[in-house]
Amino acid sequence: MPSAIVQKYLRVNRLAHIWCPGCGIGEIINGTIRAIDKAGWEQDKTVIVSGIGCSGRAPGYMNFDTIHTTHGRALAFATGMKLAKPELNVLVIMGDGDCAAIGGNHFIHAARRNIDLTALVINNQIYGMTGGQYSPTTPVDFMATTAPYGDAEPGFDLCGVAKSAGSTFVGRVAPVRMPELINTVSSALQHTGFSFVEAISQCPVYFGRMNRLGGPVQMLMRQKEITMPVRQAEQKPEEAEGKLLTGVLYQSERPAYGDLYGKIRLKAQWKAGEHV
Ligand code: SF4
Repeated sequence: MPSAIVQKYLRVNRLAHIWCPGCGIGEIINGTIRAIDKAGWEQDKTVIVSGIGCSGRAPGYMNFDTIHTTHGRALAFATGMKLAKPELNVLVIMGDGDCAAIGGNHFIHAARRNIDLTALVINNQIYGMTGGQYSPTTPVDFMATTAPYGDAEPGFDLCGVAKSAGSTFVGRVAPVRMPELINTVSSALQHTGFSFVEAISQCPVYFGRMNRLGGPVQMLMRQKEITMPVRQAEQKPEEAEGKLLTGVLYQSERPAYGDLYGKIRLKAQWKAGEHV
């Protein structure tokens, strides 16, 4: 029998889901519904938007108003929704290819505008749904079906891009650190402005198999080895060398795009009235 929280926030009649056994996406969605609950977002005032790919299927299982949009355009749809109905809470779920390749421009400009929504990017470092091609976050030298001798391109640092582009909240989480995942996503949801969270995920079927990283359990243990909570890193900086920091990495305040746009619209209306 599913727990009360699962029954409330998931469309249990849509299960079983399509994800492979041991995939990290299910764990991240499990943590995300708990973060939504913690943040106090009401179901009938919440919209979940996704693009295309394994992660793009997530909203189909989530019991909110949801929209599965086109590849790379989830943030564009979400921006329109937030501007038309600012009272809605908007969560956008994307994969690394969806966000940083075809959707890269939308990602940069949503961060620059500081539009008040949350972008959760599930980063499995590969295109899973289409057969294991390398993505913008595949690390250099790692294998993919389109890079059988190793990827020659360095992977994007998604959190670095988000911060440089103007995101006012940046976090990184991993399913192996579930309490931190729930707290960080919940803080992102409650932040006013563009909040960005990278969720490290395991794709045992393509990334794991091609790079001989073992099964789901070994990949989760690897997540523990390559990451370190930011608070722990502050206390032991010598142990943080080369690690991916997790938790809330950056937070600041500046006016959100909807507020600035609203003021400009008022000015335009006033000016139009003046000339009538
Ligand atoms: S292909 Fe990879 S990312 Fe996609 S569902 Fe399977 S394990 Fe998950």
